[in-house]
Amino acid sequence: MDCDVLVIGAGILGMSTAYHVKLANPGSRVVVVDWFGGPGQGNSAKSEGGFRNLFTSETNFLLADSTIDWMLHLEGELGHHIGVSRIGYLFLLSEEQYSGQRGAWDRIGGRAEMRVLDRGELEERIPALVTRFEEDEEAELLGLRDVDYGVLGVKCGAVDADALTRAYEELFLGLGGEVRYGTEVTGLVLKPEMELEIPGEPFVWQDALIRGAETSGGVIEAETTVVAAGVWSSRLMDPIGVDSHMRPKKRQIFAFKDPRLEPLFHVEGLNEFGTMPLTVLPKSNVLFRPEMSEGSVWMACADDLGRGFSLEDDPQAEEGYYTDDVYHVLSKYFPCFGDVRPMNSWAGHYAINGFDELPVVKSVPGMIYVGAASGSGIMKCDAIGRVAAALHAGKEEAELFGGRRFRVSDLGIHQRRAERETLVI
Ligand SMILES: Cc1cc2nc3c(=O)[nH]c(=O)nc-3n(C[C@H](O)[C@H](O)[C@H](O)COP(=O)(O)OP(=O)(O)OC[C@H]3O[C@@H](n4cnc5c(N)ncnc54)[C@H](O)[C@@H]3O)c2cc1C
Repeated sequence: MDCDVLVIGAGILGMSTAYHVKLANPGSRVVVVDWFGGPGQGNSAKSEGGFRNLFTSETNFLLADSTIDWMLHLEGELGHHIGVSRIGYLFLLSEEQYSGQRGAWDRIGGRAEMRVLDRGELEERIPALVTRFEEDEEAELLGLRDVDYGVLGVKCGAVDADALTRAYEELFLGLGGEVRYGTEVTGLVLKPEMELEIPGEPFVWQDALIRGAETSGGVIEAETTVVAAGVWSSRLMDPIGVDSHMRPKKRQIFAFKDPRLEPLFHVEGLNEFGTMPLTVLPKSNVLFRPEMSEGSVWMACADDLGRGFSLEDDPQAEEGYYTDDVYHVLSKYFPCFGDVRPMNSWAGHYAINGFDELPVVKSVPGMIYVGAASGSGIMKCDAIGRVAAALHAGKEEAELFGGRRFRVSDLGIHQRRAERETLVI
């Protein structure tokens, strides 16, 4: 099979890229392949679906803020049910954390809608929250910090990441794009630009380029091959010597549905739904959010030091990780979690670019790589897809949703110009 553009990976970044490339080139043949039976089944549908525009990096802000606008447009004006709920994104902070990052918060507040709540307001609005741990030996042992401030991102919340990926698929198919599910890519096809039909090509003296992929359904030749294979990208790119600039790290979600968590669904004045926002605790990057469609609460923890880089074939949530570990922090700040056990859990991987925690969109001859989303690929998906499509079109700038412009090479490697993100979860 021949096509103009072959996209490997039907995750959120592959589907967004495929859609924007096809939109810009209606007459071209764009084909998406994935080894799963549908879109988003890698890591995208496993996501917490949280989105925020509170970032220290201007680059991240632009990518996320324009994608949020796109998601609101997709649901509000285009009528796709992607479950966007602006429940807000609340960072709970100790005095030390808040004043230590004061400059950063002021900068963030200068460009994104943000509210700072003091301890009094937090206690009034969130009776379920413990803000003080005086003479609490366990809290001292756990190194828990008091809660003195809350920083609330207003244009933030959660989206159904599975539905969002499927919305891109629908848009893409509507333009005449093609998908081949149940198709495994086993390798990239490397060829010389000028083929001489000599065994062993390409030789070092030949200009080589990617010309498609070998798949379980045969070779697919393509003018441009987009590698958007998420944490599996290095398996395809390592053999041909192209760096994916990311390493996989396991991430787990535990879901709870219990009447004892009702207080989290009755919180006044933080969002229009009267629920807790997506909330990040002051300790250990523990976070949770209400999932309103099923009246449940999803909890995750972005553990760092001690959580190795590794790629598991079939990652599962570790029960002891919740009960023996995260639970102690969570139930101290929110005692309503006391003795509540998860009803469901699952696990996936972040593709972490440890250098600046920002995505990478770069090209090598015949190929574009879109990845290293560093745990925030859902909330930046539309902007990343537009940057990849602009790179494919040979443009220097991409137009993000809403008209803001973005220098394509900023997400590349050679002329990368991206401010390192410090508000990483
Ligand atoms: C537990 C968890 C919570 C998260 N929470 C958030 C959050 O709150 N907000 C947020 O913005 N982001 C979050 N993320 C990150 C987000 O999910 C990712 O950044 C995003 O899904 C990356 O999209 P992707 O398209 O690059 O990867 P993927 O969705 O993994 O897509 C890659 C696709 O490539 C396919 N593929 C790979 N290799 C091959 C091959 N050889 N042949 C055929 N197909 C192949 C896979 O099947 C897969 O479908 C979370 C991630 C996890 C794991």
